[in-house]
Amino acid sequence: MSVSMSLRERGARTVVTALRALSVRDWAVWTIPAPLVMSILVVEATAVLLVTLGLAGDGGPRGAALFAFGLLCVAGIVHGEVARKVEQVRRQVHMGGMHVNLSSTWFFAAAVLLPPAYAGVCAAVIHTHLWLRTEETRTPPYRHAFTTAAFVLSGYAASAAIAYAHGLGGWFAGEQGIPAIPVLVVGMLVFLTVNTALVAGAIAVSDPQAKVDQMLGDWDENLLEVTTLCLGALLAVAVSITPWLVLFVLPPLLVLHRAVLVRHLEEAASTDSKTGLLTAAAWHTSTERELRRVRRGDGSRAVLVLDLDHFKAVNDTHGHLAGDQVLASVADTLRSEVRDRDLVGRFGGEEFVVFLAGRNGGDGDLEAVADRIRRRVAALRVEIPTADGPLTIAGLSISVGGAVHLAGGGDLRELLQVADAALYSAKRAGRNQVCMGSATGGGVPVPTPPEARPAPSVEVP
Ligand code: GH3
Ligand code: MG
Ligand code: MG
Repeated sequence: MSVSMSLRERGARTVVTALRALSVRDWAVWTIPAPLVMSILVVEATAVLLVTLGLAGDGGPRGAALFAFGLLCVAGIVHGEVARKVEQVRRQVHMGGMHVNLSSTWFFAAAVLLPPAYAGVCAAVIHTHLWLRTEETRTPPYRHAFTTAAFVLSGYAASAAIAYAHGLGGWFAGEQGIPAIPVLVVGMLVFLTVNTALVAGAIAVSDPQAKVDQMLGDWDENLLEVTTLCLGALLAVAVSITPWLVLFVLPPLLVLHRAVLVRHLEEAASTDSKTGLLTAAAWHTSTERELRRVRRGDGSRAVLVLDLDHFKAVNDTHGHLAGDQVLASVADTLRSEVRDRDLVGRFGGEEFVVFLAGRNGGDGDLEAVADRIRRRVAALRVEIPTADGPLTIAGLSISVGGAVHLAGGGDLRELLQVADAALYSAKRAGRNQVCMGSATGGGVPVPTPPEARPAPSVEVP
């Protein structure tokens, strides 16, 4: 019963999606900025033109190349089917950041073994199958078309570089139709560079504020991409020897897929879903690790504990959803006011915690950071769209307790106790202020002089 229901629902959803696709005016592509539409169209048109000219010009692959083309397409689709569930979960838990496509293994092997236009067709077939079966068209067609075009162009560029390198002879010549190692390395570098440049370019055009690591992806993602290309290179060599060796690549690729899912699940479990900060448990684990590292270098370490003032009043006045957006904005503010390597966590409710290592200025330096955060929160204006028009929540304030250990002993527990006691001193002294505690001497925290302490206010234009 439930199976037939879900099949019926999926059928209905597919029909609705198909009907929507017919209505050009409703295409999601018109909702994105014009420069991005232009860039996407240029990339897609170039890919289509190159593939069309290639298919028309060279008469297509024959014999062994035709067999390799069919085998790679089928194996890529089999991979997509077998890894479908794993990939679906991976896409659900890994919403932020770049998404490395493990099918690059097939795309790169095709770029090494086939004429570029056929490698392009192979990439388009496998990638479109993945889109239809794994994402059930949740990704808008324009984005799917762009990433497919980016893979096609990366394959083209890799193919051209491989042909050029091969023509140089010597080390690059290879033996008995098997690609030489330097040729594969050149091809991988070109594939990676072109693909990264196209994706980074699209991100930069769509969001000029995007940071470099958002555009280029983090270390783990790039390592994963290199790994899939290495598998693609091995696959190309294997297929040049005996095409059926393609079957030997499927099991390691599936195990890699699962390993990547485990990493994404770990990341999701350590990330607070409302704020994107570390969860309390993940913050503790990361901070303990960082403390051990800093202790070896005998550097300073500091903790800030922060608590929004009268936050219950925000919830009581505007509801918990508005309160959640305030929490998310405060979390963004915190992240933007500390260095990337500082560890920012949500301790629980409306309490946050920051671990800062290796600051040389001691108490004064930490107090300056804390006060900067306090002033930023006081100036924060959280815009919330509501059914009655936009609502602005302003006049927030936060109390901050800090603790510093200069070089020497002291553990995280002590730092937290001192910072927590300092936070309560700040609250007792009237809120909206910073109070520093001494973690080495165990001194009683002395609050800084109170400032104006406005209660949270609301503006409805
Ligand atoms: P104080 O200045 O003494 O810290 O006052 P406060 O109102 O901020 O502190 P209190 O501990 O009385 O209330 C904390 C509030 O935080 C109550 C609770 O509903 C709210 N809260 C905790 N977690 C969440 C959350 O995830 N979302 C929202 N919207 N509110 C939350
Ligand atoms: Mg509070
Ligand atoms: Mg609290």
